[in-house]
Amino acid sequence: MTKLCQGPSCHMYDTTDRKRGPKGNKRNITRSVGGRGYGNGDFCTLGCQDDWWKEHGTRAVDYIGRLREPKAMTPENSWTKRQTYSWERDEHVSTYYYRNICTNEERPLTESQYNDSTYTLNTGE
Ligand SMILES: [Zn+2]
Repeated sequence: MTKLCQGPSCHMYDTTDRKRGPKGNKRNITRSVGGRGYGNGDFCTLGCQDDWWKEHGTRAVDYIGRLREPKAMTPENSWTKRQTYSWERDEHVSTYYYRNICTNEERPLTESQYNDSTYTLNTGE
């Protein structure tokens, strides 16, 4: 099943790949997202994503839950995964580590911990 672009005005952009119908009665239709995949794969272009946002963005933020209090960077939420590359004797070597962007502390990290999206040292929001 083709995934259609969610841009509310996608069909209003005049490009040849949007044209459908018999000669003399061609009309532009909404594009399928195809391999483009902007905005998590819901839009064919950043322009269509922007059109959607202008029309629905504020309601979407209210629906998801508007931020009411400022968030704060603390040592408990500031661990970020990092990777450095180096070459030793024509061999590519990667080093993985955690860096706390609040305290600048660094801790070693294994490759599997680096690749595990659920593994974190962060304990706060
Ligand atoms: Zn579109």
